[in-house]
Amino acid sequence: MTAARLLIIGPQGSGKGTQGVRVAEAFGIPAVSTGDVFRANVKEGTELGIKVKAIIDAGDLVPDELTGEIVRDRLAQDDAAGGFLLDGYPRNLGQVADLDAFLDARGEPLTAVIELVVPREESIQRLSLRATEQGRADDNAESIAKRLAIYESETAPILDIYRERGIVDEVDGVGSLDDVFERITAALAARGITVS
Ligand code: AMP
Repeated sequence: MTAARLLIIGPQGSGKGTQGVRVAEAFGIPAVSTGDVFRANVKEGTELGIKVKAIIDAGDLVPDELTGEIVRDRLAQDDAAGGFLLDGYPRNLGQVADLDAFLDARGEPLTAVIELVVPREESIQRLSLRATEQGRADDNAESIAKRLAIYESETAPILDIYRERGIVDEVDGVGSLDDVFERITAALAARGITVS
């Protein structure tokens, strides 16, 4: 059996947050979403939240140093010892290098990267819907466009690195929540990553 040290990646509006939580629950591992950590801090008005609010609302990336520290702290906690699912980190080449350094030092590299593939029009549609339902400050047209552009220019290239390592599973993200979840777990099972 292969440990579930997972990364889920896909454009904003691909459903990665929802699927990430579901997969993590199924495997009994923590879902670590940097976006969720930032939003919780903004909501609570912590020092970190105050620092990052304007950056997030504009759809820009929070500095790597700050983001890396949050992830390292979280992965060092006991519940992440048996595995974890990262959502939203790493998001650029610098963050991949930071994460590699941390995981290599533990001798625990990522075992699979799930790439959720969703056409651009569908992502935009889902994001607009979420804006109405959840009222997220960064789900406005300008911020959405910026985040999708950053995804294409900075985040998509990191997939090439993971592809070279042979750990990327491309999963069709269009369909019902159950269908997409089934596709993800089937791809992981093919790698020997199964629920224990
Ligand atoms: P998300 O929920 O993953 O779309 O993240 C929401 C926002 O949080 C992003 O638009 C960024 O401003 C910030 N953020 C989340 N993860 C990262 C990251 N790995 N690096 C930099 N900024 C991030």
